[in-house]
Amino acid sequence: MGLFVINRIAELREKIKNFKREGKSVGLVPTMGCLHNGHASLIKASSERCDVTVVSVFVNPVQFGPNEDYDKYPRTLESDKELAEKNGAAIIFAPSVAEMYPGMNKFSDITMVAPPFHMVDMMCGKSRTGHFDGVCTVVSKLFNIVQPDYAFFGMKDIQQLYIIKKMVSDLNFPIEIVPCPLVREESGLALSSRNKYLSEEDREIAVSISKSLFAIQNAVKNGIIDTKKLFDAAITVMDRRVEPEYIEFVDRKTFEPVDTIKKPAIAAVAARVNSVRLIDNILIGE
Ligand code: AMP
Repeated sequence: MGLFVINRIAELREKIKNFKREGKSVGLVPTMGCLHNGHASLIKASSERCDVTVVSVFVNPVQFGPNEDYDKYPRTLESDKELAEKNGAAIIFAPSVAEMYPGMNKFSDITMVAPPFHMVDMMCGKSRTGHFDGVCTVVSKLFNIVQPDYAFFGMKDIQQLYIIKKMVSDLNFPIEIVPCPLVREESGLALSSRNKYLSEEDREIAVSISKSLFAIQNAVKNGIIDTKKLFDAAITVMDRRVEPEYIEFVDRKTFEPVDTIKKPAIAAVAARVNSVRLIDNILIGE
């Protein structure tokens, strides 16, 4: 079919309308570009399930804090097109900021969608104030623009996944959210567009973040269920040059914090390597 690269909302709506008229199902994979094999797995999952896959590539200014990496976030549209097409995408939607937020001078100019406080009063929501408001806002807009039947989200951004599921339920979006497994390098490092910022040495240091999560997983398998002890097990294997921001434990069903691992749970970490902020998580207590 070939890949269509579309920058305008009106043009995308027209194209989707035509696909829908032909009875085709539509899958959406929202991304910020700089696509890697983690994104590829989402695009593949969508193209296996849906007739038409739309990959959005948009570095959303509204989800970045004032001192974050919005300006330097890697933008690689040419190679993104290749990866998207190879994995079965029909459309890349790559709007400009002016197309998505016409007339916006500051974030307070626009209507925002905010997740419930208890879901952001922890993990990344705590250190990145307003981040998930920005995420929910842009994802709502993408849902309204694309009107997909399915939308694919990676378990890499685990808090985001739970928040989006809650938003879809609370706001009655007629969309099925499909979670996709976290993809790692052979070293264990979780694939991330931000890995681009890491030097060779930084990468080696960063591998110890995933090692700390595997240490937690093993400790749980060995019967340790106290999260304080699990925290210590993680810190022991983390390279000293890693600056952990949080290691938190949440129930897999409710996404509420837990002190002991008695049911299926998630251990999640955010940490900086040479000021690059990385996140990772692992399923524990099967
Ligand atoms: P991003 O471009 O970083 O905003 O990510 C876009 C989507 O790709 C999100 O749903 C992420 O969770 C997902 N994603 C990013 N990295 C990975 C990975 N290593 N494994 C699985 N999904 C990922």
